[in-house]
Amino acid sequence: MKYIGAHVSAAGGVENAPLRAHEIGATGFALFTKNQKQWSSPPLSAQNIELFKQRCSEFGYPPCSILPHDGYLINLGHPQPEALKRSREAFCDEMSRCQALGLDRLNFHPGSHLNEISVDECLSRIAQSINIALSKTDGVTAVLENTAGQGSNLGFRFEHLAQIISQVEDKSRVGVCIDTCHAFAAGYDFNASHVLFEEAGIAMTEADVKGAVVLKGYENIIVSFDRIVGLKYLRGMHLNDATKPSGSRVDRHSSIGKGEIGESLFESLMKDERLDGIPFILETPDETLWPAEIAQLKLWASRK
Ligand SMILES: [Zn+2]
Ligand SMILES: [Zn+2]
Repeated sequence: MKYIGAHVSAAGGVENAPLRAHEIGATGFALFTKNQKQWSSPPLSAQNIELFKQRCSEFGYPPCSILPHDGYLINLGHPQPEALKRSREAFCDEMSRCQALGLDRLNFHPGSHLNEISVDECLSRIAQSINIALSKTDGVTAVLENTAGQGSNLGFRFEHLAQIISQVEDKSRVGVCIDTCHAFAAGYDFNASHVLFEEAGIAMTEADVKGAVVLKGYENIIVSFDRIVGLKYLRGMHLNDATKPSGSRVDRHSSIGKGEIGESLFESLMKDERLDGIPFILETPDETLWPAEIAQLKLWASRK
């Protein structure tokens, strides 16, 4: 079973998100639980929470089908102490909101070093930020999203994600979300007949290189992810085609089949049984296409 949906609006209250997801034929969804462009939002009311839970159960959205996303201002690897503190507090608030809503995971972008600290130092700060948030909340998994590697954003290599996870104390509550556009932009070329890891600055073992000839890009990327991070950490995926070529490190989403990746990747993902049990979320730019995109993804997922 795969949960397939889109990042829907929570305008007017979080309780509207499951309603909107249901309207577009989704079996899963993503949402912001507060205004993603502001540091603080009013707390969720008992009414918001009650209605959200009621509608999720009415329309058949268990917690494992929902992938909430945190706000854009948070940087859990911030080089400056005051700004880092503010980000950590905001992240704890986001985790608490998820907990109050009965949700079991929160998706976030790892963080940026802003060219002021080293990659290793930034990754350690992110891990410490996760440790703090996990110690203050219960039942919610912190889900790191891979990035396109724009600017000084970390998390664009699977190795970054693995390095963060290795420093998280409670490994049962840390996970990963792979965004297909971000991975492609970062240099993971799903369409290549062999993965151009070398050009992307990603070390490959001899076994990988040999396997690449037979396995092609998609299989190599999944197998490499499993070896470097571990498929058991996968808690969701973002399904986006990419406007820019692989290796561009530019994050520009495109509708499914209308970008540089093309629709065959999405068909492969939907048919891959190793990826069952998690939410697959569209963050594609044209919302009017969501019902058709979801219907197509569901069709691929149903054909074994
Ligand atoms: Zn994403
Ligand atoms: Zn993106």
